[in-house]
Amino acid sequence: MGVIIKLDEHIANMIAAGEVIERPANVVKELTENAIDANSSVIEIDLKEAGMEMIRITDNGCGMDEADANSAFERHATSKIKSEYDLFRIHSLGFRGEALPSIAAIAKIELTTSLGDNTGYKIAFQAGKKISSGVAAARKGTAITVTKLFYNTPARLKYMKGPNYELAIITELVDKFALAHPDVAFTLINNGKVLFKTSGSGNVLEVLGSIYGYSVAKQMKLFKNDGRDYQINGYIANPLINRSSKNCITLITNGRVIKNPKIISTVVAAFDQRIPKGRYAITLINITCDPLLIDVNIHPTKQEIKFSEEAKLSNVLTAALKKTIDQFAMIQESENLVIGPSINTIQDQLDFLGDNSLENMKAVIDYSVFEQSTEKHEMTLPPLETSNLIPDMEYIGQYAGTYLLFQNTDGLYLVDQHAAAERIRYENYILHMSHPQKTYYDLLIPFNLDFSNHDVILINDHMTEISAFGIILSPSGNQSFFINSVPSWFPKGLEEAYTEEVINLVLESLDLNVATVRDELAKRLACKQSIKANHYVNDGEVQTIMHDLRQCNNPHTCPHGRPIIVKISLREIEKMFKRVM
Ligand code: ZN
Ligand code: ZN
Repeated sequence: MGVIIKLDEHIANMIAAGEVIERPANVVKELTENAIDANSSVIEIDLKEAGMEMIRITDNGCGMDEADANSAFERHATSKIKSEYDLFRIHSLGFRGEALPSIAAIAKIELTTSLGDNTGYKIAFQAGKKISSGVAAARKGTAITVTKLFYNTPARLKYMKGPNYELAIITELVDKFALAHPDVAFTLINNGKVLFKTSGSGNVLEVLGSIYGYSVAKQMKLFKNDGRDYQINGYIANPLINRSSKNCITLITNGRVIKNPKIISTVVAAFDQRIPKGRYAITLINITCDPLLIDVNIHPTKQEIKFSEEAKLSNVLTAALKKTIDQFAMIQESENLVIGPSINTIQDQLDFLGDNSLENMKAVIDYSVFEQSTEKHEMTLPPLETSNLIPDMEYIGQYAGTYLLFQNTDGLYLVDQHAAAERIRYENYILHMSHPQKTYYDLLIPFNLDFSNHDVILINDHMTEISAFGIILSPSGNQSFFINSVPSWFPKGLEEAYTEEVINLVLESLDLNVATVRDELAKRLACKQSIKANHYVNDGEVQTIMHDLRQCNNPHTCPHGRPIIVKISLREIEKMFKRVM
């Protein structure tokens, strides 16, 4: 009796809506999922012209008998989903059993399959009609070849963006399959060239290595946190190695690659201040839970799912990530700047195909968008315990008016003076802002600030929020306010500028909570008033900066996530001069 069971009409309707094959990657996805469902341990994806000419997927799975092979091409036939209950619980990989008839409608498709007994069977379809069938070699498993994709839907063909783009999407798709199924050996070939290969050993770190480079995988750390409902584990790369696309964050739930914007923002938030905005750490997250906690009704074809109690899940995940992120040595070593084969996210791959590898490197190193200012910094940090997060090192001098150079027996260190000063001020401000009531003082001579009509209304409505920052104001005329007291941590001479900044920020972020506003304010003020690039600092100032930096909780990145210290090891310098190999 066949493995394939006809779906009842209701389910068929539920899933038919999303039945779209838009590009070669959709074909690869459907067929690969089928191969995984067939319990294959080896899956080969062979393409010509990124699948535009040919897609062949060969597996060593359970295979089909003649009856099943035929009914696989009927609408609403599926072996994956047997009832609405199963669909809801997405125990199986695919949501749809309609892949083959859909593909057959817009391409030529040939299927060869065998249960591994004495016979094999082959069958071919084109434009939805069976064009041939017969016996074939008895190799256990299934091979499906798709050619002439979109030959009868020229509008779709026009929509294709060219082989490089299509290939990039497929590569990323296969990467994710390999991460979700490290026990399956995947091979991806295009125009006869092997692009990607995994061993199927079950070692997910090895898969990460083949995707992101082994030097990256070597530095990845395992994280784990088991909540009551959600068991979480995964790997994160050193935050210093980061990418421009969120695609380097992979979410897997119960063996499926999924999408969930909420979880992605949880991951991004966990790396706050460790990575510059718009950059992302390579992260693999595995969530195991009772399928009843998953809501697939959002949009089955988009891989997007929702978790019940997402806030709880976020908390468990945040705790796991933060604990692990803190374990990374955060001094950037210059050798880490050259990062493994960066060819696997769409952007990285496109860059690679355009041979922009040098540009990529620059993107990692070039953090400096410096404001021009000669404002001097002044620091009033309360005494904290000195940490040893920064090694002992001796000041050598200033380079390019921007970097402080240090040395010790391990190597040469560059400290970005703006980033360092910014970090010190930021932590200082956050500390003071947490106790606003103790720290404001009355001005001897109140000053006056003017606002627009619109802002005046808002300010009158939000006096409490503003006073929470230690700023007390009273109306003076129609469009201006007297500022009577300000926080004592406002630098002398900058009371007006800081007050304006606080009020503007409060008005801009009325719907945000106090902690978020404080954080943003601390970042802005720290940046504004901190010592800039192209500014000479004397030895005494350097000493103060380093002393205060050593007392920071996170002396390695500025509040915007850019590095403060970069190290070039002695060994690396010796390599440059060919003193060592
Ligand atoms: Zn700045
Ligand atoms: Zn910064």
